[in-house]
Amino acid sequence: MIKEDAVNVQVGDAVFGGGEVILMAGPCAVENEEMLYLTARSVQDAGAKILRGGAYKPRSSPHDFQGLGKPALGMLQRVGKALNMPVVSEVLDTRDVEDVAACVDMLQVGSRNMQNTALLKEVGRSGKPVLLKRGLAATLTEWLLAAEYIIAAGNRKIVLCERGIRTFETSSRNTLDIASALLAKERSGLPTVADPSHASGNRNLVAPLGMAAIAAGLDGLLIEVHPAPEIALCDGKQSLELEEFALLARKIMALQAVS
Ligand code: PEP
Ligand code: MN
Repeated sequence: MIKEDAVNVQVGDAVFGGGEVILMAGPCAVENEEMLYLTARSVQDAGAKILRGGAYKPRSSPHDFQGLGKPALGMLQRVGKALNMPVVSEVLDTRDVEDVAACVDMLQVGSRNMQNTALLKEVGRSGKPVLLKRGLAATLTEWLLAAEYIIAAGNRKIVLCERGIRTFETSSRNTLDIASALLAKERSGLPTVADPSHASGNRNLVAPLGMAAIAAGLDGLLIEVHPAPEIALCDGKQSLELEEFALLARKIMALQAVS
């Protein structure tokens, strides 16, 4: 990857790479507007700058909840507007890029699609900020080349996201690779964040891994939060309760103050 000057990426009022740690938080999947609003208000009060919520979900099993699709985009747009909070949501299919881009402030390319070159070109052409997750078995070089696809399509507004890779270790969902995330940031000049929720698959590990990533110098976190994780339609085991997120946000702010 051609190393250029470090870039900041602005999403609403949030600036990635500008020195402030940016927290993105919300449910794995948008389940209904009420829970989305409740969660958004709570994470915003706690210090999150960006609301996350999945409308289209890339589930491992076709029998699992696939997301509400288009109706969820409207919910994200309305809740984001009501709270003046920018929104990030995943796009799975080139045919949906326009619709998703019209409703959200940042497009997420998920782990399973990191090498979907058609999708990378399309999100590049959209000109929207992109949250590019590392593929679950992608090398650092492959991850940065995926970013280059977006850049080649004319869009440098990319935030890289390390979300854990698949290793021989099965005791947690994935293995958070902070070293590669730091190298990705250094080599690309792009802001880089961590997603300890998908990296661990375990609510109890989310805060410690998140703090480790921020202590190491990454630019922010993506955290799954649900008002009642035990009945979440998606990724409940790794979702923080509202209060748990507020506690983590306080710890992150304290950490930021000393680093
Ligand atoms: C998600 O953010 O909900 C998600 C599916 O993430 P990943 O692509 O990292 O699995
Ligand atoms: Mn999830």
